[in-house]
Amino acid sequence: MIKNDSKPTVISIKNLKKSFGSLKVLDGVNLNIKLGENLAVLGKSGSGKSVLIKIISGLLKPDAGTVEVLGLEVDKISTKELRTLRSKIGFSFQNSALYDSMTVRENLAFPLIRNKTDLSKSEIQHAIEEVLNQVGLPQTISQMPSELSGGQRKRIGIARTLILKPEIMLYDEPTAGLDPITSSEINSLIKKVQTQYKTSSIIITHDLTCAKNTADNVAILVNGKFLQSGSFEEVFKSENEIAQSFYEYNFI
Ligand code: ADP
Ligand code: MG
Repeated sequence: MIKNDSKPTVISIKNLKKSFGSLKVLDGVNLNIKLGENLAVLGKSGSGKSVLIKIISGLLKPDAGTVEVLGLEVDKISTKELRTLRSKIGFSFQNSALYDSMTVRENLAFPLIRNKTDLSKSEIQHAIEEVLNQVGLPQTISQMPSELSGGQRKRIGIARTLILKPEIMLYDEPTAGLDPITSSEINSLIKKVQTQYKTSSIIITHDLTCAKNTADNVAILVNGKFLQSGSFEEVFKSENEIAQSFYEYNFI
């Protein structure tokens, strides 16, 4: 699974467990992501994929195990350290999570105002314009989220994370509910972010085209553990096996 052995590890997870009441969601997850690595995580609905990335970003606490991100144990650090760490982790939520009562400009300004209190108004405006150009939507700056298409909302959601220049990107089903053309545009944007921002990433997806286009490696979450992980070639030796796995693990 690990191609670049000499590169530093950015995410290291050992024996992670997480339950909600009697529901065991994660039951011994091990994961290692190196700098610049992009991992697609597959698994059927309810298998714990979103919970995993919420734990990585400090939104949920693990019950057991260690979760180290950029050298820090997410559940052991102070609130202040966690806030700094979270500013280095971009989280692209499944529903884009834009603030509906704010314009695109205000949505993009929000993380900057919260995290970089020393920036001037013109620096904030410049950062907003830059990131809107990166996602190809400069014309939407004064629009409300309700006026955007699903694909545009996704892009603005990604732009909002890029504005803090994250080191790690976590994408929760980035192409879910999008048509094939819009999906391929989002895949291209994820690729662009990987090369231009040099992010390491986890891409949760049911969409194999998305996984193949945006990830170097793939891991399959089944019964709270990674059942298989490795390059696409290692995990799916033939097209047939992909179909087989979709059937066996009921990804959709
Ligand atoms: P998915 O793989 O579809 O992203 P999730 O990670 O969202 O699945 O959820 C895994 C399981 O954990 C589901 O059964 C879900 O209902 C449950 N779950 C997730 N978050 C919570 C929570 N905050 N409280 C209680 N149960 C939760
Ligand atoms: Mg999910």
